[in-house]
Amino acid sequence: MASRKNYYVGVDLGGTSLRAMVVDEKYRLLASEKVRTPVGQKPRVTIAKMAEVIKAALGSAAIRSGNVAAVSVGAPGTINARHGVVEQAPNLGWTNVPLASELRQRLGVPVRVDNDVNVGMMGEYALGAGRGAKDLVGIFVGTGIGGALIINGKLFEGACGGAGEIGHTVILVNGPLCHCGHRGCAEALASRTAMERDVRAAIQSGQKSLVPKIMRKKGHTRMTSSVIQSALNKHDRVMEEVFKRAQYYLGILVANAVNLLDPERVVIGGGIAARLRDEFVAAIRETAYEYFIHAGRARAVKILPGKLDDDAGPLGAVVLARRGAGVEQGTLKK
Ligand SMILES: [Zn+2]
Repeated sequence: MASRKNYYVGVDLGGTSLRAMVVDEKYRLLASEKVRTPVGQKPRVTIAKMAEVIKAALGSAAIRSGNVAAVSVGAPGTINARHGVVEQAPNLGWTNVPLASELRQRLGVPVRVDNDVNVGMMGEYALGAGRGAKDLVGIFVGTGIGGALIINGKLFEGACGGAGEIGHTVILVNGPLCHCGHRGCAEALASRTAMERDVRAAIQSGQKSLVPKIMRKKGHTRMTSSVIQSALNKHDRVMEEVFKRAQYYLGILVANAVNLLDPERVVIGGGIAARLRDEFVAAIRETAYEYFIHAGRARAVKILPGKLDDDAGPLGAVVLARRGAGVEQGTLKK
């Protein structure tokens, strides 16, 4: 019994934080650790930190690495999952980093690496808001907008592994500049970064807003989802308008995806959805329904906020490690 490999570590390597969760075969949480992602460091510094965090999580769960079946990582950017290589991760400053083999050397256990949005949506599909559906579109709204497609129970990765880049769907031709270099992408219209840009522009043009004060009070230099929530609770006019516009564009984005793929469900993940739930998703849903081409059965498509929040990434990584890209659904045991 003692030598059985029945434990897993799910890791979420984000641009701001690095999180590791140790779970057993039934996804019961045994330990978790979270630290800030080292910024502006060489990949090997970040990888050493990852190994440290994983070892610390295993230590607090009292699990030896010999009992770990796999460590599974969700990482941002373009990932070659077959070889465990992070090909491009602009917000980490990484190019062609062999993350899986580097971590495996340090930990002595098998390591797999997938795209963070894909693993997050796999978590929602298997254990969260996607349970019961076979075809699912996931849209993560954060500093950017990411997407993932699960078709007939399998992660759809595309010919080159690049499927799901829904954030770069052009919604407004000649709209605001996106960091990808094009204009009017959904990400440039409705991400948290876009909302912050619009709030700052409104203030610059002389409109009054509580957002800067709320940011100072919370000690944030960016307009985080908690700042958005506080500003909305205080009925800040600028925030309300910017938020409403973002919801409208997201509604159109969802409708485009549904018209193309006819999924059973659309799951909206990310920090804003986690905090505001239906206060965020309801208006997106209503706009989407207006633009559905099969209007008669539009409401059969469920558009829901994610359920697992921060756990979606680490849990989804474990789901993928256990089952590969085709995944059974299950009940999450807390
Ligand atoms: Zn773009």
